[in-house]
Amino acid sequence: MSDKFDFDTLAVRAGVQRSNFNENSEALYLSSSFVHEDAATAALRFSNQAPGYVYSRFSNPTVEMFQQRLAALEGGEACVATSSGMSAVLTVAMGLLKAGDHVVCSRSVFGAVITLFEKNLGRFGLQTTFVEATDLSAWEKAVKPNTKMLFLETPSNPLMEVLDVAALSKIAKKAGAVLVVDNCFCSPAVQRPLEMGADIVVHSATKYLDGQGRTLGGAIVGSKELVMGEVHGFLRTAGPSMSPFNAWVALKGMETLGIRMEKQCDNALELARWLESHPQVDKVFFPGLESHAQHELAKRQQSASGRFLAGAVVTFTVKGGRPAAWRVVDGCKMISITANLGDTKSTITHPASTTHGRISPEAREAAGVVEGLLRVSVGLESVADIKKDLQNGLGA
Ligand SMILES: *Cc1c(COP(=O)(O)O)cnc(C)c1O
Repeated sequence: MSDKFDFDTLAVRAGVQRSNFNENSEALYLSSSFVHEDAATAALRFSNQAPGYVYSRFSNPTVEMFQQRLAALEGGEACVATSSGMSAVLTVAMGLLKAGDHVVCSRSVFGAVITLFEKNLGRFGLQTTFVEATDLSAWEKAVKPNTKMLFLETPSNPLMEVLDVAALSKIAKKAGAVLVVDNCFCSPAVQRPLEMGADIVVHSATKYLDGQGRTLGGAIVGSKELVMGEVHGFLRTAGPSMSPFNAWVALKGMETLGIRMEKQCDNALELARWLESHPQVDKVFFPGLESHAQHELAKRQQSASGRFLAGAVVTFTVKGGRPAAWRVVDGCKMISITANLGDTKSTITHPASTTHGRISPEAREAAGVVEGLLRVSVGLESVADIKKDLQNGLGA
């Protein structure tokens, strides 16, 4: 149905498969396996020669509804759901790469992605070069004859740098490599990387797709050829599959994705403007501000809804280093002190002592994760209350 309907309609209706009970709301199929009419049908289904469900490690009707809905929202042909965002990244790598291949990866990606490529996949002979996210010439220079994948996230975590997907897609095509974009921070309600030339989008459904902080989940979206071959093959064999229950939660979460993103992004912009004029705040990192280095690029890339939405994560530095930053965290009586993001509940984290705590202080400073840095994932509460909560520690 993806050609005929708008985004908000697809978010509510794409992928629906009704059972013979004709339920209006999507059903939750908690069944590990599926029954066949006879031996011949079983044989055909096992060898992929006949349609039908076999076993929930490979496919499941509730998971299939989630996959079709997200594929429609991202504008991709096919989608494979996974147990978490990290297992989506692992599944893409296991499906498309082999020992001796080379990956160019943005330095500003989710921390576990760096560990996965460098340490875990490095042990199996994969080489990865990490480059300065916004320096296109660094990406070009890092490409080698055996480069098979470029991997990035935009906007990046936690500094909200915006990367030029179309330009990076040209570099990937020239190198004969696939471009993989983690679209977690924006979701397809704000930005659709496949339309800008990315080959694959990966998601942590744990964030805005569920949007209410309830479940883990992940997904891979792209062409049938890229996604349903070796990528789905790895999932089928190794089993980092999404549970039907989590698929059902995220499926229902996606129905409100558009309005949640719009409201949370508006709240974030208002908060960013307030922080920018606050005397205790040094610098605000938010693509919605005219002061942001990639403000114009963000406008081009993040207007999938028809209006520019800068995202709902606001990062800022306070004057006075770690003690001042911790005072802001400890002053929060309403905002949740947790590193998760993309929830309707606003969250606050001090990256230098949590998400980036295991990196050496020198590497951390070089990456811009300074001691005074704070990251707020802006939720659906009233912005006035969010400001009041932050003011507790900012005023002190
Ligand atoms: C959270 C996150 C991931 C990992 O997702 P999990 O569901 O926690 O495995 C990957 N990329 C980004 C940008 C994230 O925020």
